[in-house]
Amino acid sequence: MGEDRAQEVVRVVDLMPFSFSTSLRIELEIKEVLDTVHQRCLGWIGGALEQLAEVSVMEARRCLSGKEAPQYWRRRAPQILRQFNSHFVDPTTSPSKNHIYMENGNIAAASPEEVRRSPAFGWAASDTSGILSPFTFSRRKNGENDVTIKILYCGICHSDLHSVKNEWQNSVYPIVPGHEIVGVVTEVGGKVDRFKVGDHAGVGCMVNSCRSCHQCAGHHENHCPGMILTYNSTDADGTVTYGGYSDSVVVEEHFAVRFPAGMPLDRGAPLLCAGITVYSPMKRFGFDVPGKHIGVVGLGGLGHVAVKFGKAFGAKVTVISTSPSKRQEAVERLGADAFLVSKDPDEMKAAWGTMDGIINTVSAAHEVTPLLSLLKTFGQMVMVGAPEKPLEIYAFPLLLGGKSIVGSAIGGMKETQEMIDFAAEHNLTADIELISMDYVNKAMERVAKADVRYRFVIDIGNTLSAT
Ligand SMILES: [Zn+2]
Ligand SMILES: [Zn+2]
Repeated sequence: MGEDRAQEVVRVVDLMPFSFSTSLRIELEIKEVLDTVHQRCLGWIGGALEQLAEVSVMEARRCLSGKEAPQYWRRRAPQILRQFNSHFVDPTTSPSKNHIYMENGNIAAASPEEVRRSPAFGWAASDTSGILSPFTFSRRKNGENDVTIKILYCGICHSDLHSVKNEWQNSVYPIVPGHEIVGVVTEVGGKVDRFKVGDHAGVGCMVNSCRSCHQCAGHHENHCPGMILTYNSTDADGTVTYGGYSDSVVVEEHFAVRFPAGMPLDRGAPLLCAGITVYSPMKRFGFDVPGKHIGVVGLGGLGHVAVKFGKAFGAKVTVISTSPSKRQEAVERLGADAFLVSKDPDEMKAAWGTMDGIINTVSAAHEVTPLLSLLKTFGQMVMVGAPEKPLEIYAFPLLLGGKSIVGSAIGGMKETQEMIDFAAEHNLTADIELISMDYVNKAMERVAKADVRYRFVIDIGNTLSAT
């Protein structure tokens, strides 16, 4: 980066419209914030200019004025702030005196008294050991578009384990995991119209997105480049997101799911991640039609709900597993129509070309070519698990029969609501083991060994205590 460019950015930063809400008695003076920005500016440029570089300085200046391009500013500023805060704000003290965040489309600074935050309590991992322990933090106060949910139950997803152990190399500690959150609404903002106090509501894997891109417009917020995850992510206001192993969550109404009457809160919680992850591709690829034949590879948290959704759609469901010991479980307990041992060449051969689609939930390394032979012409195998190593795929099994391997990741908010409503209509819930908060570390060990049928759900409401 050239010196001129750096100077230019410093001048742009000067133009940022810092605003202070007198009603909330923010005591920092503008000068103090500007000094802070100046002190830190050179480092900030290093990180943030990557993002700013695609915008001309003139355009940035216009956008930062917040007048001529308010739409653009609203989308852009949180990204810039995220970069700023990730460089300079100690997450353990967030929001610090120098924490910069968005308020009504302008930049503001957090007060030293943290007047705008509500205390929260949960369990967090503080290092790669992944061991969780009690943790006090804060959440934003309920805004006009927000709902606050008192959390009653939270499922344990395998992603939680990956995250607390930093297995995806992107963890920022402390982490409060949990993205299968269900509870009761305790506060709603003035512009909220889908929820009222006392309603049952859920929060899944994401808590925000840009709301203006093509994907968001098409109800695919899960594919928005600005999508914000429920934990270990940076929210639009620049603060770190904390998940559902905690007493409460504040979320924009758009990212909360109405829990239908009759849907059990504990057994419904895992549907917010595991359920939508399999439901979405089954809808998208037309597996949701009576008479279709669907294969489900792997019988864990995702696989067992895939079997249930397949049956609810009226499809024929065959569970495919390496382990013959799961046959009885799959057929008798979960209602699968058939069971196929993938290591048995005779069984596999007998099923060649019989399946319209396959939901592959396996996240360990495995051979996919034999599975492709199970598909009918033009069939799809949908990957919803994520093996760490690359898959080995030969082209011929794809060419002959015009088959596809596709991927899928959760679903948009509209579809998530449809999924939970559909599940309620069909009495479809996850099979769970309900545990207390202090069992969570043991539960994580068991998740690592796939020793759970099929989802742990933490009884937050009854067992999370701040004392
Ligand atoms: Zn999950
Ligand atoms: Zn978007």
